[in-house]
Amino acid sequence: MSLVSAILESLEKMVDENGWSSVKSVTLRVGAMRQVIPDVMKFAFDVSVKGTPMEGAELAIISVPIKFSCRGCGAHWGEEELGYLCPFCGGTNVDMDQGMELELESLEVQER
Ligand SMILES: [Zn+2]
Repeated sequence: MSLVSAILESLEKMVDENGWSSVKSVTLRVGAMRQVIPDVMKFAFDVSVKGTPMEGAELAIISVPIKFSCRGCGAHWGEEELGYLCPFCGGTNVDMDQGMELELESLEVQER
C-alpha cells in the first residue's frame, strides 16, 4: 500500500506540472524483490485514485526478475540461484543488478 502511495504522489506531481486533465493508463516496472502481488497492487491503486485525475486509469505491471552479478569474477546469474554467494567463484562481493525496481515505464494521458 505504501508503494502505491509513493507512486501516486509522483504521478500527481507530474499531472500538476504538465497540466494533464486525466491519466488513462499507467505502466510500472516492479522488481521481484518488492514482492508485489499485481492484483493486490491494482486493487490498492483503484481505491486510492478515487477523486484524483488518475481515477479510472488502467494499471499495468511489468515484473522485473532478480539478477545478480559478481564483482570478483564478473559472472551474472538470476534468481534461480538466489543467494549472496557467487555460484561460479564462491565470492561474497555480489551485487543485485535488478529486482528492486519501482519505476514508471509509461503513461497515457489526456491533455487539456
Ligand atoms: Zn564470482
